[in-house]
Amino acid sequence: MIRVASVRSDSIGEELGIRPGTRLLQINGNDLRDTLDLAFYESDETVQLLAETADGDRILYEIEKDVDRSIGLVPEPDKVRRCTNACPFCFVKGNPKIEKLRAGLYIKDDDYRLSFMFGHYVTLTNLRDEDWARIFEQRLSPLYVSVHATDPDVRLAMLRNPRSAEIGEHLDRLATGGIRIHAQVVLCPELNDGEVLERTIRDLYARGDSVLSLSIVPVGLTDYNQDRGVRPLTEAECERTLDLVERARQRARRERDTSWAYAADELFLQAGREVPGAEYFDDLELVANGVGAVSDIRDRARTDLAALPRLAGTRIVMVTGTSMAPHLTEIGREVARATGATVETVRTENRLFGPLVTTAGLLGGEDHLRALRPYADFDIGLISRTAINDDELFLDDMSLAELRTALPGLEIWPSEHVTDVLRDMRPCRQ
Ligand code: SF4
Repeated sequence: MIRVASVRSDSIGEELGIRPGTRLLQINGNDLRDTLDLAFYESDETVQLLAETADGDRILYEIEKDVDRSIGLVPEPDKVRRCTNACPFCFVKGNPKIEKLRAGLYIKDDDYRLSFMFGHYVTLTNLRDEDWARIFEQRLSPLYVSVHATDPDVRLAMLRNPRSAEIGEHLDRLATGGIRIHAQVVLCPELNDGEVLERTIRDLYARGDSVLSLSIVPVGLTDYNQDRGVRPLTEAECERTLDLVERARQRARRERDTSWAYAADELFLQAGREVPGAEYFDDLELVANGVGAVSDIRDRARTDLAALPRLAGTRIVMVTGTSMAPHLTEIGREVARATGATVETVRTENRLFGPLVTTAGLLGGEDHLRALRPYADFDIGLISRTAINDDELFLDDMSLAELRTALPGLEIWPSEHVTDVLRDMRPCRQ
């Protein structure tokens, strides 16, 4: 059973008069367990929806619609499947020890449903028989899998869960059932790099088109999980890894119509190498995993430059983390040239998690306040959209509204790629 949280306007659900609080029991005789079931079973031309109102009345709705048209019912959030691993590099263990983050950030999720719906990486170690059956029945493909290492002993040492050593069997089972995956390796020095990574690449590549891509992401540590036996990669280790990944890419391009293996932006940044352009990533949507994010922002900003209004006299300040700062500074210069505005980029150290954390999306509200305060007399402040959630809360639970209140003279806007916000601006001073 799932409960309706809201009903979209102009939807079939609204036409039928379905109200928030209604319990959705079955579609076409199938019990509804969660959001994924609703999406799966409502994809039909003829839908018999059995529901129960908040007053306990049962109603059978008979719906005729286009296959891909949703009924427009938004369910209450599902209970998330928890992770049963104990990785020493776990980002949850990297949270500040005091409860000062948004509540959800203390939850270790490992949920195959979120993997299919939103591209979250999962380890497959908590799947029950009924989960496997559902993956095949509902064809939940592709899934995003944190492989880390195909050597069972190494994977066991990393995930510290006996089931993690079954990765080969798990991947076989998915491939046999026709489920494809995007694989990920979080690279930890002296654990799964070097020869272990070579074997992982070899084993995954040998699985043919059941493994659609492999992303290699350097381990991210904070002030709070550096003492758990994992250290950051050195520059030389990043260089060696990039060379190894490049060899895999060259082979894939010779033998398949894809580069297949992708190093995360952060690996290039930590190696001190130029972050590649969009062509490196073969149009794959791996940006949420830090793979191709820099080129995505750069390309989208540049595409918009010619369409920007004249903003002469307007002073713009942009907040970013230490890794993206050089790239954003370059974008800022191009925006200044195109618009006549004054554009400053503030390279901001992360005090919420510590200086090892360098991305803009992990800066807290207090970090933003500290960065923007010296620019309180500027006109426009741009922050990364990734630093806040849908409720406009930063990771440290400060709201965007609180930040705006603290800096009343500055118009603060979350932005995806700088120019998305500036396109609609008018000059503040002439
Ligand atoms: S699988 Fe992810 S959430 Fe689970 S312990 Fe490892 S890093 Fe943490």
